[in-house]
Amino acid sequence: MFIQVPKGTQDILPDDAPKWYYIENKIREVLTKYGYQEIRTPAFEYTELFIRGIGESTDIVTKEMFTFPDRKERSLTLRPEGTAPVVRAYLENNMDRASKVVKLFYIGSMFRCEKPQGGRFRQFNQFGIEVIGTKSPEADVEVIMAALEIYEKLGLKNLEIVINSVGCKKCRVDYIQKLKKFLSNKKDLLCLECVKRYEKNPLRVFDCKKDSCQKIMETAPMITENLCPECKLHFEEVKSHLDDFKIKYHLDPKLVRGLDYYTKTAFEIVGKGLGAQNAIAGGGRYDDLVEELGGKPTPGVGFAAGIERMIMVMNQQKINWPKPKCIDIFIVKVSAENKDTAFRLLQKIRNSGLSADLDYSNDSLKSQMRIANKIGARYTAIIGEEELSKDMVTLRNMQTKEQKKVKLDEIEKELKKGSGLNI
Ligand SMILES: [Zn+2]
Ligand SMILES: [Zn+2]
Repeated sequence: MFIQVPKGTQDILPDDAPKWYYIENKIREVLTKYGYQEIRTPAFEYTELFIRGIGESTDIVTKEMFTFPDRKERSLTLRPEGTAPVVRAYLENNMDRASKVVKLFYIGSMFRCEKPQGGRFRQFNQFGIEVIGTKSPEADVEVIMAALEIYEKLGLKNLEIVINSVGCKKCRVDYIQKLKKFLSNKKDLLCLECVKRYEKNPLRVFDCKKDSCQKIMETAPMITENLCPECKLHFEEVKSHLDDFKIKYHLDPKLVRGLDYYTKTAFEIVGKGLGAQNAIAGGGRYDDLVEELGGKPTPGVGFAAGIERMIMVMNQQKINWPKPKCIDIFIVKVSAENKDTAFRLLQKIRNSGLSADLDYSNDSLKSQMRIANKIGARYTAIIGEEELSKDMVTLRNMQTKEQKKVKLDEIEKELKKGSGLNI
């Protein structure tokens, strides 16, 4: 029995890989247009970063992290999300010195030890952006618009923005008191998990998926009615910019997101008709995170989105994936005696900028043609005694089946001429 991939992981096979770089290229294209620069952080960090960054009481930190000691017993964790590492890199590299506002994006694997189910993996891929250094509501709106544009450019339809404000350090303290008071006589009705949440961070109770807990929270005091004037104004401005750009959004005062670092704006992009786990991107403002990770007080805002879910939704919506590029020329030898010439020609064609391949075995002409068909080669170049005596090959258009003799050094010219090839 051969060894299989670990539970919750998957191979991205050659048939699917083009989908990935199609999406990644689109992400880079749109975000570069918005002025973001790519950053790549390590796959693992010191565990402390996530405990301090994401919050001790969050589901991610309490039960989903892959944490392990290194050989000197320092605790490491495979990154479960991208924002804390980006902020760590921002601080460590003094990025604030180069410019007041730093705009970064990342694409990479994240790791969470979740129960693998419908589109959820233990190693999954996310892309995200972070704007660090501005508290302007315009930045919140830019982040939402950049995310939307990526989805639109990829052809995703029926997306909706769900938005909320979760307040700031000042107003949230009072609000949490209110919430605690509200929940204090309902503790018996909460699930065990939520009783713990009640103690550590009652906001988390809004995240509970259990119907009984959700029902209780329906009548809970809402953060949006308890915002301080600054948070209230910020939220108003975000909404008015969204109106201005005619971006439809839906207000959800119960949206708190699963991470502790959010302040003010929190949002999700949801795909209508995707069922319960319909969020395909989520983000918000994190005005205290930089300070919590040891920097000067510096506001920030960003979002993250899962690429696996994105592909799932694109498949559901039957979006046409671009066809992967095929081999331009497959060289076919009439007999094994031509193999040295064929090998030299192969490299010559590749050096000219075309893609080329051949079958190194000495199988029959028929079997070589079968391979050419299977890999979708646009042309075959057939080499036999007759052709070689005249320094020529027989070039065959695999679609029209037309063929003609072409001089060895004119293959490239011939293909560029009428082939319609993308070279
Ligand atoms: Zn506030
Ligand atoms: Zn609960």
